Amino acid sequence: MSEETDCCVVGGGPAGLFLGLLLARCGVRVTVLEKHGDFLRDFRGDTVHASTLRLLDELGLGERFRKIPHQRLDRVRVQLDGGTFVLPDFTRLPPPYSYLAMAPQWDLLNLLAEAGAAEPTFRLVMRATVTGLRESDGRVAGVEYTDADGGTHRLAAALTVACDGRSSDVRRLAGLDGYRRHFGAPEDTLWFRLPRRAGDPEGLVIRFSNGRGMVLVDRGDYWQVAYLIQKGSYERLRTQDVDVVRRTAVALLPWLADRIGELGSWDDVRVLDVRIDRLRRWYAPGVLCIGDAAHAMSPIAGVGINLAVQDAVATARLLGGVLAAGRVPSVRQLAAVQRRRRWPTVLVQGLQRVIQRDVFTADDPDAELNIGRTDAKPAPPIRLMQRFPALGGPPARLVGLGLLRERPPRPALRDGTTTTVREIA
Ligand SMILES: Cc1cc2nc3c(=O)[nH]c(=O)nc-3n(C[C@H](O)[C@H](O)[C@H](O)COP(=O)(O)OP(=O)(O)OC[C@H]3O[C@@H](n4cnc5c(N)ncnc54)[C@H](O)[C@@H]3O)c2cc1C
Repeated sequence: MSEETDCCVVGGGPAGLFLGLLLARCGVRVTVLEKHGDFLRDFRGDTVHASTLRLLDELGLGERFRKIPHQRLDRVRVQLDGGTFVLPDFTRLPPPYSYLAMAPQWDLLNLLAEAGAAEPTFRLVMRATVTGLRESDGRVAGVEYTDADGGTHRLAAALTVACDGRSSDVRRLAGLDGYRRHFGAPEDTLWFRLPRRAGDPEGLVIRFSNGRGMVLVDRGDYWQVAYLIQKGSYERLRTQDVDVVRRTAVALLPWLADRIGELGSWDDVRVLDVRIDRLRRWYAPGVLCIGDAAHAMSPIAGVGINLAVQDAVATARLLGGVLAAGRVPSVRQLAAVQRRRRWPTVLVQGLQRVIQRDVFTADDPDAELNIGRTDAKPAPPIRLMQRFPALGGPPARLVGLGLLRERPPRPALRDGTTTTVREIA
């Protein structure tokens, strides 16, 4: 079947759905293709930082977002043996966005999909897997995808945007994989659920002790647990009984003892590959990579979603007008997106790499669960921030707001938006 659109967005994650919505509000005919049948992927982050909260308000979606059950954290606390440390302190951000919202990502994505559906030029196709690229006149001119019934479709597009994540198919098909720089990561993540009980802490629990670490995300009636292990050690670990995880989890957080038995076997555990990489070139004629497809982010500081969303905003602002006019964006115009978004990415990935090097360096490379140094105290800059809280301002800004403020294209804004922002302030 042959179809046509102005912009084909591959991937319905945070980058893809924000981009689809923003472009549609500029009058661009946009088709978002998502290979899954829903957004219920529990292996994604839940963080919605200040820059995304502000964007939701600018798009007139803030009120709807605030109706989604979510937690508001004004500070992120890390528990070490030597005490609890604040890192970062979001109260240092300008109001009203001086907090971190934690909301299940599928709720946010559903909200964006619903907002998109209200735009006449927006089309979202679920269970649509891109399998090939179309070429014409030496440029990518759209995609081929299969639908839920195995049917094949050819979709012609002036621009194809790869928002299909860290293992991007579009990036590979466009021959851009060779431009990838790998920075490595010393850790992978075991991902499993444990019940939440009355009296448990709320929000986010981050605990490191004796070279081990875990993060618990509050999802209402259960904890989504991220348990850190040495990179590539999962298969070795699996040769042992899952009790090895149960025992060390309880050693880290003794209050889990009454429900750790719910972790029945390795079948309850998924392993997530953590990596940091970045493309040297984000584009080829007719195709552009953004979000994790251009730069895979580690979970450290929970900023990958933010960065992906800001890429989408910059892309819509820089290319929305060209696409709305029915033109094919030139290679120079695609390069302008990379130029704009490269430095914020370099800086945030640099921060993640420093934290990886200084915190997640195993002092026992043979112990699968050993992912860090045994220090009971954090590094000196963090200790300094505890003594002089004002020093926490710049890191909170970098994590919460990003290096550059990305403003959505004017037509994407909605009447009443400014009122909403003023009301909250
Ligand atoms: C363990 C772990 C935890 C993390 N936790 C956090 C966190 O707490 N906060 C945070 O900010 N970041 C976190 N990150 C990083 C974050 O997940 C990413 O940076 C972010 O999801 C990137 O968004 P994206 O839209 O670019 O890609 P993705 O969210 O990966 O979305 C890509 C979409 O493309 C679809 N797709 C893929 N291939 C195709 C195809 N061929 N055809 C059609 N569709 C396709 C996928 O189904 C998916 O929906 C974490 C990462 C890891 C590994």
